[in-house]
Amino acid sequence: MGRRTRMRMVKSPPDNQYFRRAIEGPLAEDQIILTVAEFEALRLKHYIDLNQQDSANKMGVSQPTFSRILESAHQKVTQAIMEGKAIKVYGGNIDVKKGFIGYGCLNCNEEWEDESASKDKKVNCPKCNSEKIYYLVREPL
Ligand SMILES: [Zn+2]
Repeated sequence: MGRRTRMRMVKSPPDNQYFRRAIEGPLAEDQIILTVAEFEALRLKHYIDLNQQDSANKMGVSQPTFSRILESAHQKVTQAIMEGKAIKVYGGNIDVKKGFIGYGCLNCNEEWEDESASKDKKVNCPKCNSEKIYYLVREPL
C-alpha cells in the first residue's frame, strides 16, 4: 500500500512564500539579528549535522550553553519566518564575510574581534564585563 499525502492543518499560513539572501540590507525593523554564535550553532547542529556535544566542543562551550545558543537561534529564525523578516548575521563589529578571531558574550550577545584570542584565555566582555565568554574563530574562505 502506497503512502498517501495527507492534508496537514496549518493554522496560520505564511504571508510571503520566498526567503532568500539579500545583498542590500533591509530596514532595521524588518530584520532579525542573529549573532555569529547562533549562526554557527545552526550550522554545526543542522547543516553539518553534528550532535550537540560535538557542536559544543567545536565552539568551546559546555553542552547546556550550546543548547541555549541553539534555542535562541531557533527562536529568532522561527520569528523571521513567521513575520517575513530578513535575517542578519551580526557580531558587533565583526565582518562575517572574512576570517576572524575573537570572542562573544553569553550575557549581552556582544561579539568582538581580538587577534590574540585563544580558547584558554580568560577575558571579560568589554560591554557588560561578564565572564561568560565563548571563543569565536572563522578561517578565511
Ligand atoms: Zn557582555
